[in-house]
Amino acid sequence: MPQKSKLGQNFLRDQQAIHRIVAALGDISNRTVVEIGPGRGAITELLATRAGHLIAIELDPVLAADLQSRFTPANGFPNFKLLRQDVLTVDFSALAHDAGQPLLVVGNLPYYITSPILTRLADAASSIDLAVLMVQREVADRVTASPGSSDYGLLSTTVQLYGQANPLFTLPPQAFSPPPEVHSTVFRWVFAPRFGTLGVPRDPFVSFLKACFAQKRKTLSNNLRNVGHTSQAIADALFHTGLSPQARAEELTLDHFAALFRALNA
Ligand code: SAM
Repeated sequence: MPQKSKLGQNFLRDQQAIHRIVAALGDISNRTVVEIGPGRGAITELLATRAGHLIAIELDPVLAADLQSRFTPANGFPNFKLLRQDVLTVDFSALAHDAGQPLLVVGNLPYYITSPILTRLADAASSIDLAVLMVQREVADRVTASPGSSDYGLLSTTVQLYGQANPLFTLPPQAFSPPPEVHSTVFRWVFAPRFGTLGVPRDPFVSFLKACFAQKRKTLSNNLRNVGHTSQAIADALFHTGLSPQARAEELTLDHFAALFRALNA
């Protein structure tokens, strides 16, 4: 476990933001909600009051013990379950299976592991309906970016491959205690994996995207040569897809990537 000071513990103290985060989940009265990093329970209390079931995942043993003694059936929270666990070891598909329904995920994330958490949620995409997540503003900008923007990259395509991501609102450091060094943005991620409509197999296509974005300054052609495609095969595939020989990954939509992948693997 990282040192306590490194657990990304910036506790939310803006009541309006807490209400907006919970409202963004919609009607949760019959749903199983999973909260990542409940901390001192800033969002947890409203969630536990409104949700059908709430599963909270907290790594810090002291905070976990406090939550466990606060959210009890005797205190009016019969629907609360705590997992004292690293979120990166949680099996979200198993939680959804036990719940008998896809999950709603929410959290003011520990920023030091934002990308691994997003990847883990993506891996469990068929078990999740919706996630409302607070991340560093720059990360939210990348997650929700469109092709052509300087923020568009592998993180954008990775998240957007599994559904639609939209920013909701941004908070200044003073909304937290202690204040972090960065602004924070809440975004809403509606899960709807696109592999079927794009006509591509999941794992090979994810590897292909990583190869396309491997070196941002290089052309697609250069990046694809580095993973073993011949210049001729790449030129043919780009032509067939209607893309310029000088095309760069950050200009392409997921539809372009899928067409190029299919042309290269035809
Ligand atoms: N939800 C609370 C709030 O908004 O005030 C706390 C958010 S704080 C940014 C992140 C929380 O994630 C902390 O409580 C921290 O202990 C917890 N955390 C850090 N690393 C974790 C991990 N790997 N697994 C689960 N929880 C973790």
